[in-house]
Amino acid sequence: MTTPDDAAVRSGAGSPLVEMIDVQKWYGELHVLADINLTVDQGEVVVVIGPSGSGKSTLCRTINRLETIDAGEIRVDGAPLPAEGKALARHRADVGMVFQSFNLFAHKTILENVTLGPVKVRRHSKADAEARAHELLDRVGVGEQATKYPAQLSGGQQQRVAIARALAMEPKVMLFDEPTSALDPEMISEVLEVMVDLAGRGMTMIVVTHEMGFARTAANRVAFMADGRIVETASPEEFFTNPQSDRAKDFLGKIL
Ligand code: ADP
Ligand code: MG
Repeated sequence: MTTPDDAAVRSGAGSPLVEMIDVQKWYGELHVLADINLTVDQGEVVVVIGPSGSGKSTLCRTINRLETIDAGEIRVDGAPLPAEGKALARHRADVGMVFQSFNLFAHKTILENVTLGPVKVRRHSKADAEARAHELLDRVGVGEQATKYPAQLSGGQQQRVAIARALAMEPKVMLFDEPTSALDPEMISEVLEVMVDLAGRGMTMIVVTHEMGFARTAANRVAFMADGRIVETASPEEFFTNPQSDRAKDFLGKIL
C-alpha cells in the first residue's frame, strides 16, 4: 500500500509542489495579500511567522481555495486551482488542512471522523478506510480512542485526530494554521512531535506557528510576513540569528 509519505519521499524531491505567483488579495481597502511569491518544494517544510493580522491565515486559506484571490496564480503540483465542482473537491482533498480549532465532527466517533472523507471523496471501501484510519490513529498516538467521541478527548488528542483525518485523504501537502495555539501548554509538545515525525517522513508542509522551537528543528525555510507581504524568507538558522528587515527584528525582539 502506498502511503502519502512514501509518495512524497519518492517523487522527485526538489520539484515545486505549491507555487504562489504574484498573488494579490483585497478585503475592500485592505491589501491582505500583496505580491505574494512563494514556492514550496516537494518534501519541504516552510514555517510562516509574523504578527497577528499580517495575512498568514488568509495565505493558507487561498491555497485550499477557502478564499479566492484577486490576481496572480496558485498552482499545486503543477496544476492551477480549479474554480469549482468535483475538480475543486479533489483539489481540497490533495491539500490537507489543520486549524487552530480542531473542527472534528462532534457527533461522529473518532474512527468515523477519519474514515468519512476517504469513503466519500476518495471512494475507498469502508474496510480499507478503517484499516488505514486505525494505522494513522496508532501513529499519532490515539489508537485507543477510536470508538470515542471528540468531546471525550483532550485538546491535544483531538488535534492529533485532526492530523490523522487530514492524512487519511493522502494529501500532497499539509497546511497547519496555528495548530497548537488553542492547546493547554502541556499538550503542545505531543502535537508538535506528530508534526516533526510527519516532516521527517518527507511530507510537504506549510506551518503557521509561533512555536519557534518547531521552526528551528523542523523547518527548511522560514517565511516572515508583515502587512500582507512576505518580507523575508531564510533558513531558520539565518532568520533567527540574522534577520534582515526591521519588521522581523522588531517581531523577534518581542517573542524571543
Ligand atoms: P493572521 O492569520 O496573520 O493573523 P489573517 O489572514 O487572519 O491574519 O488576517 C489578515 C487581515 O485580514 C486582518 O487585518 C484581518 O482582520 C483581515 N481579514 C481576515 N479575514 C477577513 C474577512 N473575511 N473580511 C475582511 N477582513 C478580513
Ligand atoms: Mg491567523
